[in-house]
Amino acid sequence: MSILPALSARHVDHRSYPVGVAYMDGQYLPMAEAKISVLDYGFLHSDATYDVAHVWKGNFFRLDDHLVRFCRGMEQLHMSVPYDKEQMREILHNCVALSGLKDAYVEFICTRGTSPTFSRDPRDAENRFIAFAIPFGSVANEEQRKRGLNLAVTDILRIPPASLDPTVKNYHWLDMVRALYAGYAIEADSAVLVDQEGNLSEGPGFNIFVVRDGEILTPKGSVLHGITRQTIFDICAGLNIPCEEQAIPVDVLKAADEVFITSTAGGVMAVTRLDGQVVGDGMIGTITQRITKCYWDMHTDARYASTVRYPDIA
Ligand SMILES: *Cc1c(COP(=O)(O)O)cnc(C)c1O
Repeated sequence: MSILPALSARHVDHRSYPVGVAYMDGQYLPMAEAKISVLDYGFLHSDATYDVAHVWKGNFFRLDDHLVRFCRGMEQLHMSVPYDKEQMREILHNCVALSGLKDAYVEFICTRGTSPTFSRDPRDAENRFIAFAIPFGSVANEEQRKRGLNLAVTDILRIPPASLDPTVKNYHWLDMVRALYAGYAIEADSAVLVDQEGNLSEGPGFNIFVVRDGEILTPKGSVLHGITRQTIFDICAGLNIPCEEQAIPVDVLKAADEVFITSTAGGVMAVTRLDGQVVGDGMIGTITQRITKCYWDMHTDARYASTVRYPDIA
C-alpha cells in the first residue's frame, strides 16, 4: 500500500496570476510561466535585492534612478549578472512593450541563485536576474486613496541598519508583515515601524512624511532612500516648502497637521488617521494635495520620463 495515496504524480498549478510579461534565463515569458527553483537562495534565505519602477500612461518614471539604486545594491551584496545597466533598461522596456500595459508595476530582481552542489558558500552560487511587468499596483486601494489611509503606529522595530543596510532594497519583510497584522488587529489599513531609538522608521514598501506648521519632515536613518521620497525633496525645493530628513519622535507624528506616505506603488498617498484617530481635521491636507499633483505632473517631464515603444498591432 502506498503511503502517499493522495499525491498525484503531476503538479497542477491551479492558481491564477496577474497578466504581464517576465524575463528570466534569457527568455520573455507570460507571467504565469515565470518560475524559479525552490533551491534558489533568493527564496530560501531571502538572499536577493530588487527594485520596482513604474510606467504611467506609457512612460517610465525616473528609470535611471531605479537602475542606479539596483546596481548599487547588487554591488553591496557581491552579486553580478551578465547584463549592464543599458541591457537591463532594454529588458525592462521590452517587458512593458510586450505586455502592452500602459500603466505598469515593473519589478527587477537579482537573487543569489543556485549552486549545483547546494554549497552553503554564497560565492558558489550563480546569481539570477529576473524582471517583470504587471498591471500598476498601489499600497492603497481606490477607496483608501480617496478617504486617506488609517495607519497603525506600531512599536515594532524595523530591522536595524547595523544588521541590514536599509538602503539596499531587500525582501527581509517579516518585521513589516508583523506590523501589518498588528495594524489589521486595530482595523488599520497599513502600519509604520520604529527605529532603535523609538523614532519613526518606514512601513511595508513606503516612506512616511509629516507636515507640521508648513514644514515637511521625513525619517533619516533606518529607511530605504525611496525614489518617491527623493521626488518629494525635489518637489519641495521647487515649491519653496522646507523639507528635511531628521529623527521624528512618534509624538511629533501624532501631532502632525498632515501625514502622507510615498511609494513607487501608488505615488503620494494621504494618511488621515493614525491608530483610528484623525490627523488634523481628518481631511486630505492642502500641502499633500499640492505635492500629489506635482508628482503626477512630473511623469510627463522629459527629465524624468522615458517613453515605452509598444509594438504596432495592425
Ligand atoms: C520600495 C520601498 C520604499 C519606497 O521606495 P520607492 O523607491 O519610493 O518606491 C520604502 N521602503 C521600503 C522598505 C521599500 O522596500
